[in-house]
Amino acid sequence: MVSRTIPVQAFDLVVIGGTGDLARRKILPALFKRFCAGQMSDDCRLIGAARRDLDAAQYRDFVRDALREFAGELALNEASVAGFCAHVDYVAIDARGDMGWQKLSDLVATGEAQDAVRAFYFSVGPSLFSDIAERLERFGLTDSDSRVVVEKPFGRDLETAQALNAQLAQYFDEGQIYRIDHYLGKETVQNLMAVRFGNMLFEPLWNAQYIDHIQITVAESVGVEGRGEYYERAGAMRDMVQNHLMQLLCLIAMEPPAHFDPDAVRDEKLKVIRALDGVQPHHIVRGQYTASDGALSYREDVGNERSKTESFIALKCHLNNWRWAGTPFYLRTGKRLSHRDSEITVVFKDTPHSIFGPEAGRHRNELTIQLQPNEGITLGVTIKEPGPGGMRLVDVPLDMSFAEALGPAADAPDAYERLIMDVIRGNQTLFMRNDEVEAAWAWTDPIIHGWEARGDAPKPYDAYSAGPDDAALMMRRDGRDWKGLEK
Ligand code: NAD
Repeated sequence: MVSRTIPVQAFDLVVIGGTGDLARRKILPALFKRFCAGQMSDDCRLIGAARRDLDAAQYRDFVRDALREFAGELALNEASVAGFCAHVDYVAIDARGDMGWQKLSDLVATGEAQDAVRAFYFSVGPSLFSDIAERLERFGLTDSDSRVVVEKPFGRDLETAQALNAQLAQYFDEGQIYRIDHYLGKETVQNLMAVRFGNMLFEPLWNAQYIDHIQITVAESVGVEGRGEYYERAGAMRDMVQNHLMQLLCLIAMEPPAHFDPDAVRDEKLKVIRALDGVQPHHIVRGQYTASDGALSYREDVGNERSKTESFIALKCHLNNWRWAGTPFYLRTGKRLSHRDSEITVVFKDTPHSIFGPEAGRHRNELTIQLQPNEGITLGVTIKEPGPGGMRLVDVPLDMSFAEALGPAADAPDAYERLIMDVIRGNQTLFMRNDEVEAAWAWTDPIIHGWEARGDAPKPYDAYSAGPDDAALMMRRDGRDWKGLEK
């Protein structure tokens, strides 16, 4: 099922790197699903542009294969696939040379819709951004309303991120640049904002006075999956914490923006990042998976037997502001963990006094925002265990998952579908602004420099486990437990 909506305005989406892995697995299926939902009008086009020497018919075959593999049941409908492919074109280009650019420019100029939005998805490594931006301008492909979409990694430290921002700023205004973090496109992440700011119930309690701590886990069971070369240079801190976990932290911790508009939301997120305190070395646990349960070790996966790159990180941090002073935030992410599980848990404090006596036990409200593998929000509340025999308390989940309550309306598009449509609509709310990305690196860099200077080696952990024991110990020392992964 896909949610049905009215078409957005006509657009040309040019996917530079349209034959790559990201295009195949995410971009093409996402656009196809929006086509099936009726959101692409007849004059919309998807133009693949990449190094491979293909003609349009060969690229359509490539698209068909990608949809069969990654677009699920919808791709079984031959008529839908054929209908979508009628929107598809292709031009072979060289991002570093002039080959193909004039042809691409001519093709874009011949669109049926005069006022079609032009969006250029840079689905290539960041080292090509500047070359591509320069050619887009030189060959007259862009105007002041054109948009560019860029993927992570956005730099590997503050300096490289600033350089990338400066390169893009030579050719585009900030309002034209869409830095994707697909976690922000998830329905539940936006629902988190709806829950926080659309209800009277939560916001008055949303501070250090009532919240004991907040934890964010993004666990993957996969290893480095053929991306070893990139990962070896990045590690979990750069690959996940600087962007995805940081973005989730921002949405959880930010002040209510005055309006739900791009700059109002991003201003508040930026304040969160700037309020982050440095992290003490003993509040960081880095890990690296070892061979176990049929899986190779990280070092075998990346082909470097002396690697000190972390495939796991857990850390405790604090925000220096009135709302959160004294409330720790625990972040944890890693590869080859026991299962795929992304969730945010807000753990409220104990009631100030228990009228039920010590035998009733300690009960705390927990708000769990589950992002992967399923999306949903659950509030744990304490009630009386039914039956005679005195007042025994038990925690039950108050399930705020939308599927049952909302029926088909809850059948949300996936993150890439939403984000690509937001690009066409010109809505930057769910995209990272230049100053946010730079502030996130400014916080991340000293942490990385710290462990590099100390020569810290990551702690080994078994593949398909919950990570290094030290991560659990860090929590236990604080009298707390990690939620989720260990269940
Ligand atoms: P890929 O290597 O599979 O594809 C790269 C694409 O760029 C190909 O289409 C290739 O033809 C094209 N290309 C490379 N050099 C070119 C040149 N000189 N001229 C013209 N075209 C050229 O890479 P990918 O996995 O699709 O990743 C693309 C970007 O997205 C990278 O920055 C990556 O870090 C990022 N990303 C990828 C994923 C993923 O799931 N694959 C997830 C998040 C971010």
